Amino acid sequence: MSQPTTLLVDTDLERDDAAAAANALYLKLVGDGTISPLPGMAEDAPFEVLDRRLTADTGITAIGLHASGHRWRLEGQAAEMVDGGRENGIFCRYDGSFTIRCPQCLAPLSPGDEGSDALEEALIVWCDSPDSAFVACPNCSTWTPLTTWQSPRHDFAVGHFAISLHGVHLHAFTDHRNHAAMALRQRLGDLASDYTVVYSST
Ligand SMILES: [Zn+2]
Repeated sequence: MSQPTTLLVDTDLERDDAAAAANALYLKLVGDGTISPLPGMAEDAPFEVLDRRLTADTGITAIGLHASGHRWRLEGQAAEMVDGGRENGIFCRYDGSFTIRCPQCLAPLSPGDEGSDALEEALIVWCDSPDSAFVACPNCSTWTPLTTWQSPRHDFAVGHFAISLHGVHLHAFTDHRNHAAMALRQRLGDLASDYTVVYSST
């Protein structure tokens, strides 16, 4: 069984600041009654949405808050973000396939394509030292940071802080000038609607 999930990925935030960002949003969303303070039972389970109106209006049933190299742990009657876990800051379709475009020449590149070794290496480097993750374009040979390669179909992003919205693909997020979508993004801390949107499933 797979459930549609919409991700908002902050591709600019430094890794050292990601856990604080996730924790601040957790406190805000618990404080205003949007989500349950308790994480689900599974290690990377999201927080259940308690705001029934939000679920009715958008289809979002649970919200996950992700920081590279961190996970949530139950601490008393609340969740606490601690070091560890599997979060690596790579977000893509559930099957791992995606297409990104060279920021210089806009040539598309997918894992498994001819010349994609540089991409696969960059994904490995990203997990250890993200600032060193560069990709050489097989088309124009330019080296550019992995974070600058955009996904035209919204199926890939890397970033140290991300929000997962479980239960729906919110296509309104990628419509320009959709005011309800912009308001929801603001509520989730994406004030300028500049987080990268990825449509995935969990
Ligand atoms: Zn290129």
